[in-house]
Amino acid sequence: MVKKNKAIFFDRDGTLIKTLVSKNNTPIAIKNYKQLRFENNSKLVIERFQKKYLIFIITNQPDVSRGKNLKKNVILINDIIKKKLKIDQVYTCYSDKDKNYMRKPNPGMIYKAQKKYKLNLSQSYVVGDRNKDILAGKKAKCKTVLINKRYNILSEIYPDFKIDNLKELLKIIKV
Ligand SMILES: [Mg+2]
Repeated sequence: MVKKNKAIFFDRDGTLIKTLVSKNNTPIAIKNYKQLRFENNSKLVIERFQKKYLIFIITNQPDVSRGKNLKKNVILINDIIKKKLKIDQVYTCYSDKDKNYMRKPNPGMIYKAQKKYKLNLSQSYVVGDRNKDILAGKKAKCKTVLINKRYNILSEIYPDFKIDNLKELLKIIKV
């Protein structure tokens, strides 16, 4: 098999799995595996890219350091997703400190994967539903795709591509 040196980095909540949304229309991470619902077409879309791309999840889970959720709940959710979607590796940042290099919008998790898998980041993509995802991707010089969930979040961020759902990714990344 040809060794893959490019990747698609997916955000988790609101991108591969459904996120909860607060009353004022901002996303909230699920707390346990019983709340886990996959986004439509997540398996189909990832299967399509697996031949040519390594598939990673990069996810901020600050509820753990804020004492609002337990690490073991996050790990269990991640394990289920990893198995079901055949993700190569899940990178999780539990910190809620914005200066933490691993926490998106910082690019630490992307560089960690690059180092391990010798990735060509300019041929890699970051896909997410929030500004933090897009910014992390831009800092690491990846191509960026925003899934526009129309949250109540102002944005001055310009992704390379904007789509309305995961399936539209098939039109952007050709395999
Ligand atoms: Mg998200």
